[in-house]
Amino acid sequence: MQDIRVIPCKAFKEKPVDETRLGFGKKFTDYRFCMDYYDGAWQDPRIEPNEPFVLDPATSVLHYGQSIFEGMKCYRREDGGLQLFRAKDNFARMNRSADRLSIPQFDEELVLEGLIKLLNIEKDWVPHAEGTSLYIRPTIIATDPFLGVGAGKNYKFYIILAPSGAYYASGLAPVGIYVEDHYVRAVRGGFGFAKTAGNYAASIKAGEIAKQRGYAQVLWLDGVEQKYVEEVGSMNMCFIIDGVIVTPELNGSILAGITRDSILKLCKEMGYKVEERRISIDEVFEAARAGKLEEAFGTGTAAVVSPVNALCRDQEEIKIGDGNIGPITQKLYDTLTGIQFGKLEDTHNWVMRL
Ligand SMILES: *Cc1c(COP(=O)(O)O)cnc(C)c1O
Repeated sequence: MQDIRVIPCKAFKEKPVDETRLGFGKKFTDYRFCMDYYDGAWQDPRIEPNEPFVLDPATSVLHYGQSIFEGMKCYRREDGGLQLFRAKDNFARMNRSADRLSIPQFDEELVLEGLIKLLNIEKDWVPHAEGTSLYIRPTIIATDPFLGVGAGKNYKFYIILAPSGAYYASGLAPVGIYVEDHYVRAVRGGFGFAKTAGNYAASIKAGEIAKQRGYAQVLWLDGVEQKYVEEVGSMNMCFIIDGVIVTPELNGSILAGITRDSILKLCKEMGYKVEERRISIDEVFEAARAGKLEEAFGTGTAAVVSPVNALCRDQEEIKIGDGNIGPITQKLYDTLTGIQFGKLEDTHNWVMRL
Protein backbone atom coordinates (compact mmCIF):
# COMPACT_ATOMS: atom_id res chain seq x y z
CA MET A 1 0.00 0.00 0.00
CA GLN A 2 1.07 3.58 -0.65
CA ASP A 3 2.69 5.52 2.18
CA ILE A 4 0.66 8.35 3.67
CA ARG A 5 2.93 11.29 4.44
CA VAL A 6 2.09 14.09 6.85
CA ILE A 7 2.62 17.77 6.03
CA PRO A 8 2.61 19.59 9.38
CA CYS A 9 0.43 22.60 10.16
CA LYS A 10 2.16 25.85 11.08
CA ALA A 11 -0.80 27.32 12.95
CA PHE A 12 -3.65 25.66 14.79
CA LYS A 13 -7.25 26.68 15.19
CA GLU A 14 -8.98 27.14 18.50
CA LYS A 15 -11.14 24.19 19.41
CA PRO A 16 -14.77 24.94 20.23
CA VAL A 17 -15.23 25.45 23.97
CA ASP A 18 -19.01 25.28 24.27
CA GLU A 19 -20.03 21.84 23.02
CA THR A 20 -23.71 22.66 23.34
CA ARG A 21 -23.39 25.12 20.44
CA LEU A 22 -21.40 23.16 17.88
CA GLY A 23 -24.08 23.16 15.19
CA PHE A 24 -23.34 21.17 12.08
CA GLY A 25 -20.64 21.56 9.42
CA LYS A 26 -19.55 25.04 10.38
CA LYS A 27 -16.13 24.54 11.89
CA PHE A 28 -13.45 22.20 10.56
CA THR A 29 -10.32 20.71 12.08
CA ASP A 30 -6.69 21.62 11.29
CA TYR A 31 -5.86 18.75 8.96
CA ARG A 32 -7.44 16.86 6.06
CA PHE A 33 -6.63 13.68 4.21
CA CYS A 34 -6.02 14.34 0.54
CA MET A 35 -4.84 12.63 -2.66
CA ASP A 36 -4.86 13.56 -6.33
CA TYR A 37 -5.64 11.64 -9.48
CA TYR A 38 -3.43 12.31 -12.51
CA ASP A 39 -1.53 10.25 -15.10
CA GLY A 40 -4.19 7.56 -14.67
CA ALA A 41 -3.72 6.84 -10.95
CA TRP A 42 -4.50 8.16 -7.48
CA GLN A 43 -1.24 9.66 -6.21
CA ASP A 44 0.42 11.11 -3.17
CA PRO A 45 -1.99 10.22 -0.35
CA ARG A 46 -1.21 12.61 2.47
CA ILE A 47 -2.41 14.38 5.56
CA GLU A 48 -2.07 18.13 5.05
CA PRO A 49 -3.22 21.41 6.59
CA ASN A 50 -6.88 22.01 5.78
CA GLU A 51 -6.40 25.25 3.90
CA PRO A 52 -8.51 26.67 1.02
CA PHE A 53 -7.88 25.23 -2.47
CA VAL A 54 -6.90 27.41 -5.39
CA LEU A 55 -9.11 26.46 -8.37
CA ASP A 56 -9.18 27.87 -11.88
CA PRO A 57 -12.62 29.41 -12.63
CA ALA A 58 -12.89 26.90 -15.51
CA THR A 59 -12.48 23.90 -13.18
CA SER A 60 -14.88 21.26 -14.45
CA VAL A 61 -16.61 20.44 -11.15
CA LEU A 62 -17.79 24.05 -10.93
CA HIS A 63 -19.58 23.76 -14.29
CA TYR A 64 -20.69 20.18 -14.75
CA GLY A 65 -20.98 18.97 -11.19
CA GLN A 66 -18.78 15.88 -11.33
CA SER A 67 -18.60 15.59 -7.59
CA ILE A 68 -19.43 12.96 -4.97
CA PHE A 69 -19.30 12.81 -1.21
CA GLU A 70 -19.97 10.71 1.85
CA GLY A 71 -21.06 11.39 5.41
CA MET A 72 -20.18 9.42 8.54
CA LYS A 73 -19.17 10.07 12.12
CA CYS A 74 -16.49 9.33 14.67
CA TYR A 75 -18.07 8.70 18.08
CA ARG A 76 -16.55 9.11 21.53
CA ARG A 77 -17.34 6.29 23.94
CA GLU A 78 -18.04 6.86 27.62
CA ASP A 79 -14.54 5.49 28.41
CA GLY A 80 -13.07 8.19 26.14
CA GLY A 81 -12.17 5.80 23.29
CA LEU A 82 -13.11 6.59 19.71
CA GLN A 83 -14.97 4.50 17.18
CA LEU A 84 -16.30 4.50 13.64
CA PHE A 85 -19.59 3.00 12.50
CA ARG A 86 -19.70 0.97 9.23
CA ALA A 87 -17.02 3.19 7.64
CA LYS A 88 -16.14 0.49 5.10
CA ASP A 89 -19.71 0.60 3.84
CA ASN A 90 -19.42 4.34 3.28
CA PHE A 91 -16.28 3.94 1.16
CA ALA A 92 -17.84 1.07 -0.80
CA ARG A 93 -20.87 3.27 -1.51
CA MET A 94 -18.57 6.12 -2.50
CA ASN A 95 -16.97 3.91 -5.14
CA ARG A 96 -20.47 3.06 -6.46
CA SER A 97 -21.21 6.78 -6.68
CA ALA A 98 -17.83 7.25 -8.40
CA ASP A 99 -18.68 4.63 -11.00
CA ARG A 100 -22.00 6.31 -11.86
CA LEU A 101 -20.28 9.68 -12.32
CA SER A 102 -17.32 8.27 -14.29
CA ILE A 103 -14.92 9.15 -11.50
CA PRO A 104 -12.02 6.67 -11.18
CA GLN A 105 -12.29 4.02 -8.46
CA PHE A 106 -10.06 4.43 -5.41
CA ASP A 107 -8.48 1.95 -3.00
CA GLU A 108 -10.98 1.68 -0.14
CA GLU A 109 -8.42 0.23 2.27
CA LEU A 110 -5.93 3.01 1.62
CA VAL A 111 -8.55 5.67 2.20
CA LEU A 112 -9.72 4.00 5.41
CA GLU A 113 -6.12 3.94 6.59
CA GLY A 114 -5.84 7.63 5.67
CA LEU A 115 -8.98 8.40 7.66
CA ILE A 116 -7.72 6.52 10.71
CA LYS A 117 -4.38 8.32 10.54
CA LEU A 118 -6.19 11.64 10.24
CA LEU A 119 -8.46 10.83 13.19
CA ASN A 120 -5.50 9.82 15.33
CA ILE A 121 -3.94 13.23 14.69
CA GLU A 122 -7.22 15.08 15.27
CA LYS A 123 -8.62 12.98 18.13
CA ASP A 124 -8.89 15.92 20.52
CA TRP A 125 -11.42 17.45 18.10
CA VAL A 126 -13.93 14.68 18.80
CA PRO A 127 -16.35 16.34 21.23
CA HIS A 128 -17.28 14.81 24.59
CA ALA A 129 -20.81 16.05 25.29
CA GLU A 130 -23.72 13.62 25.07
CA GLY A 131 -24.89 13.09 21.49
CA THR A 132 -22.02 15.03 19.87
CA SER A 133 -19.60 13.54 17.35
CA LEU A 134 -16.98 14.37 14.75
CA TYR A 135 -18.63 14.48 11.33
CA ILE A 136 -16.50 13.05 8.50
CA ARG A 137 -16.96 14.32 4.97
CA PRO A 138 -15.04 12.45 2.22
CA THR A 139 -15.36 14.22 -1.15
CA ILE A 140 -14.12 13.81 -4.72
CA ILE A 141 -14.18 16.64 -7.27
CA ALA A 142 -13.10 16.83 -10.91
CA THR A 143 -10.31 19.39 -11.19
CA ASP A 144 -9.54 19.65 -14.93
CA PRO A 145 -9.28 23.37 -15.74
CA PHE A 146 -11.16 23.43 -19.04
CA LEU A 147 -14.72 23.57 -20.35
CA GLY A 148 -15.15 20.28 -22.12
CA VAL A 149 -17.86 17.87 -21.05
CA GLY A 150 -16.42 14.43 -20.49
CA ALA A 151 -14.76 12.33 -17.83
CA GLY A 152 -11.93 14.37 -16.40
CA LYS A 153 -8.33 13.24 -16.16
CA ASN A 154 -7.72 15.04 -12.89
CA TYR A 155 -9.51 14.64 -9.57
CA LYS A 156 -9.02 15.50 -5.95
CA PHE A 157 -10.08 13.23 -3.08
CA TYR A 158 -10.23 14.79 0.38
CA ILE A 159 -11.64 14.10 3.80
CA ILE A 160 -12.49 16.99 6.12
CA LEU A 161 -13.69 16.74 9.72
CA ALA A 162 -16.25 18.88 11.53
CA PRO A 163 -17.14 18.60 15.23
CA SER A 164 -20.92 18.51 15.30
CA GLY A 165 -23.53 19.02 17.96
CA ALA A 166 -26.26 16.76 19.21
CA TYR A 167 -28.83 16.84 16.42
CA TYR A 168 -31.65 17.46 18.83
CA ALA A 169 -31.02 20.07 21.48
CA SER A 170 -33.82 18.76 23.70
CA GLY A 171 -34.68 15.14 22.96
CA LEU A 172 -35.98 13.69 19.71
CA ALA A 173 -38.13 16.44 18.25
CA PRO A 174 -40.70 15.21 15.70
CA VAL A 175 -40.91 17.15 12.44
CA GLY A 176 -43.60 17.89 9.86
CA ILE A 177 -42.91 16.96 6.24
CA TYR A 178 -44.19 18.39 2.96
CA VAL A 179 -44.98 15.97 0.13
CA GLU A 180 -43.58 17.46 -3.08
CA ASP A 181 -45.72 16.48 -6.05
CA HIS A 182 -44.48 18.92 -8.67
CA TYR A 183 -40.67 18.83 -8.61
CA VAL A 184 -38.78 15.54 -8.57
CA ARG A 185 -35.34 14.78 -7.20
CA ALA A 186 -34.27 11.79 -9.29
CA VAL A 187 -35.52 9.78 -12.23
CA ARG A 188 -35.27 6.22 -13.48
CA GLY A 189 -31.82 5.73 -15.00
CA GLY A 190 -30.54 8.91 -13.35
CA PHE A 191 -28.23 9.02 -10.34
CA GLY A 192 -30.58 9.12 -7.38
CA PHE A 193 -28.65 6.27 -5.74
CA ALA A 194 -25.38 8.23 -5.86
CA LYS A 195 -24.32 10.71 -3.20
CA THR A 196 -23.63 13.54 -5.59
CA ALA A 197 -23.96 17.32 -5.54
CA GLY A 198 -26.48 17.40 -8.41
CA ASN A 199 -29.14 15.55 -6.44
CA TYR A 200 -28.96 18.22 -3.77
CA ALA A 201 -28.97 21.07 -6.29
CA ALA A 202 -32.20 19.61 -7.70
CA SER A 203 -33.77 19.56 -4.25
CA ILE A 204 -33.11 23.05 -2.91
CA LYS A 205 -36.07 24.86 -4.50
CA ALA A 206 -38.59 22.39 -3.14
CA GLY A 207 -36.90 22.61 0.26
CA GLU A 208 -37.43 26.37 0.29
CA ILE A 209 -41.11 25.97 -0.60
CA ALA A 210 -41.58 23.42 2.18
CA LYS A 211 -39.92 25.77 4.68
CA GLN A 212 -42.17 28.67 3.63
CA ARG A 213 -45.16 26.47 4.38
CA GLY A 214 -43.79 25.59 7.79
CA TYR A 215 -42.44 22.10 7.10
CA ALA A 216 -38.96 20.93 7.99
CA GLN A 217 -38.27 18.67 5.03
CA VAL A 218 -39.50 17.49 1.63
CA LEU A 219 -40.80 14.02 0.94
CA TRP A 220 -39.98 13.10 -2.65
CA LEU A 221 -42.16 11.02 -4.90
CA ASP A 222 -40.85 8.89 -7.76
CA GLY A 223 -39.82 10.76 -10.90
CA VAL A 224 -41.89 8.65 -13.31
CA GLU A 225 -45.45 8.50 -11.94
CA GLN A 226 -45.05 10.92 -9.03
CA LYS A 227 -47.01 8.45 -6.98
CA TYR A 228 -44.60 6.35 -4.91
CA VAL A 229 -42.67 7.48 -1.85
CA GLU A 230 -38.92 7.80 -2.44
CA GLU A 231 -37.13 9.52 0.44
CA VAL A 232 -36.87 12.68 2.51
CA GLY A 233 -34.12 15.29 2.13
CA SER A 234 -31.06 13.36 3.23
CA MET A 235 -32.97 10.57 4.92
CA ASN A 236 -34.66 7.33 3.96
CA MET A 237 -38.25 6.94 5.07
CA CYS A 238 -39.97 4.26 7.19
CA PHE A 239 -43.66 3.94 8.06
CA ILE A 240 -45.22 1.70 10.67
CA ILE A 241 -48.59 0.66 9.29
CA ASP A 242 -50.72 -1.73 11.31
CA GLY A 243 -47.66 -3.08 13.13
CA VAL A 244 -45.58 -3.62 9.97
CA ILE A 245 -42.43 -1.60 9.19
CA VAL A 246 -42.73 -0.51 5.56
CA THR A 247 -39.98 1.27 3.61
CA PRO A 248 -39.50 1.99 -0.11
CA GLU A 249 -37.40 -0.64 -1.85
CA LEU A 250 -33.99 0.32 -3.29
CA ASN A 251 -35.01 1.07 -6.85
CA GLY A 252 -31.97 2.97 -8.14
CA SER A 253 -33.43 6.43 -7.61
CA ILE A 254 -33.17 6.51 -3.81
CA LEU A 255 -30.00 6.48 -1.78
CA ALA A 256 -29.14 3.19 -0.06
CA GLY A 257 -28.72 4.59 3.44
CA ILE A 258 -26.45 2.80 5.86
CA THR A 259 -28.70 3.94 8.70
CA ARG A 260 -31.68 2.51 6.77
CA ASP A 261 -29.92 -0.83 6.40
CA SER A 262 -28.92 -0.87 10.09
CA ILE A 263 -32.44 0.03 11.26
CA LEU A 264 -34.03 -2.68 9.08
CA LYS A 265 -31.64 -5.28 10.50
CA LEU A 266 -32.44 -4.18 14.06
CA CYS A 267 -36.20 -4.26 13.32
CA LYS A 268 -35.98 -7.84 12.07
CA GLU A 269 -33.99 -8.89 15.13
CA MET A 270 -36.56 -7.25 17.40
CA GLY A 271 -39.16 -9.44 15.72
CA TYR A 272 -40.99 -6.82 13.66
CA LYS A 273 -42.29 -7.64 10.23
CA VAL A 274 -40.37 -5.57 7.66
CA GLU A 275 -41.48 -4.89 4.10
CA GLU A 276 -39.22 -3.29 1.49
CA ARG A 277 -41.54 -2.49 -1.37
CA ARG A 278 -43.16 0.23 -3.42
CA ILE A 279 -45.45 2.30 -1.26
CA SER A 280 -47.71 4.92 -2.78
CA ILE A 281 -48.39 8.22 -1.06
CA ASP A 282 -52.11 7.39 -1.37
CA GLU A 283 -51.54 4.24 0.69
CA VAL A 284 -49.81 6.29 3.39
CA PHE A 285 -52.63 8.85 3.51
CA GLU A 286 -55.32 6.14 3.47
CA ALA A 287 -53.58 4.31 6.32
CA ALA A 288 -53.50 7.58 8.27
CA ARG A 289 -57.19 8.26 7.65
CA ALA A 290 -58.01 4.70 8.78
CA GLY A 291 -55.99 5.22 11.96
CA LYS A 292 -53.42 2.59 10.93
CA LEU A 293 -50.38 4.82 10.38
CA GLU A 294 -48.85 4.33 13.80
CA GLU A 295 -45.43 5.90 13.39
CA ALA A 296 -43.21 7.40 10.70
CA PHE A 297 -39.54 8.36 10.76
CA GLY A 298 -36.60 9.23 8.57
CA THR A 299 -33.18 7.57 8.89
CA GLY A 300 -29.77 9.08 8.12
CA THR A 301 -26.32 9.56 9.64
CA ALA A 302 -26.91 13.16 10.75
CA ALA A 303 -30.10 12.67 12.79
CA VAL A 304 -29.94 8.83 13.07
CA VAL A 305 -33.73 8.61 13.41
CA SER A 306 -36.02 11.57 12.91
CA PRO A 307 -39.64 11.10 13.98
CA VAL A 308 -42.30 12.53 11.66
CA ASN A 309 -45.55 13.74 13.23
CA ALA A 310 -47.28 15.32 10.22
CA LEU A 311 -47.38 14.96 6.44
CA CYS A 312 -48.87 17.60 4.16
CA ARG A 313 -49.89 17.02 0.56
CA ASP A 314 -51.71 19.74 -1.34
CA GLN A 315 -54.15 21.10 1.22
CA GLU A 316 -54.44 17.95 3.31
CA GLU A 317 -52.38 17.49 6.45
CA ILE A 318 -52.34 14.20 8.31
CA LYS A 319 -51.14 13.84 11.87
CA ILE A 320 -49.13 10.80 12.89
CA GLY A 321 -49.46 9.39 16.39
CA ASP A 322 -50.12 11.82 19.23
CA GLY A 323 -47.49 14.30 18.03
CA ASN A 324 -44.73 12.80 20.17
CA ILE A 325 -42.08 10.28 19.17
CA GLY A 326 -43.56 6.78 18.80
CA PRO A 327 -42.38 3.92 21.04
CA ILE A 328 -40.77 1.86 18.24
CA THR A 329 -39.02 4.93 16.79
CA GLN A 330 -37.65 5.71 20.26
CA LYS A 331 -36.50 2.12 20.79
CA LEU A 332 -34.71 2.06 17.42
CA TYR A 333 -33.02 5.38 18.14
CA ASP A 334 -31.85 4.23 21.56
CA THR A 335 -30.55 0.92 20.20
CA LEU A 336 -28.67 2.32 17.23
CA THR A 337 -27.13 5.27 19.06
CA GLY A 338 -26.30 2.85 21.91
CA ILE A 339 -24.23 0.79 19.48
CA GLN A 340 -22.67 3.84 17.82
CA PHE A 341 -21.53 5.37 21.11
CA GLY A 342 -20.36 2.04 22.52
CA LYS A 343 -23.00 1.77 25.26
CA LEU A 344 -24.55 -1.37 23.78
CA GLU A 345 -22.80 -4.46 22.51
CA ASP A 346 -22.07 -4.49 18.77
CA THR A 347 -23.16 -7.95 17.61
CA HIS A 348 -22.97 -7.05 13.90
CA ASN A 349 -19.34 -6.11 13.56
CA TRP A 350 -20.43 -2.58 12.61
CA VAL A 351 -18.11 -0.75 14.94
CA MET A 352 -14.39 -0.18 14.48
CA ARG A 353 -12.48 1.07 17.49
CA LEU A 354 -9.52 3.36 16.88
C1 LIG B 1 -26.78 10.32 2.83
C2 LIG B 1 -28.18 10.23 2.39
C3 LIG B 1 -29.12 9.41 3.05
C4 LIG B 1 -28.81 8.64 4.32
O1 LIG B 1 -27.76 7.74 4.19
P1 LIG B 1 -26.98 7.25 5.49
O2 LIG B 1 -25.96 6.32 4.96
O3 LIG B 1 -27.97 6.58 6.35
O4 LIG B 1 -26.41 8.46 6.13
C5 LIG B 1 -30.40 9.30 2.52
N1 LIG B 1 -30.74 10.01 1.41
C6 LIG B 1 -29.88 10.81 0.77
C7 LIG B 1 -30.33 11.54 -0.44
C8 LIG B 1 -28.58 10.96 1.24
O5 LIG B 1 -27.73 11.77 0.60
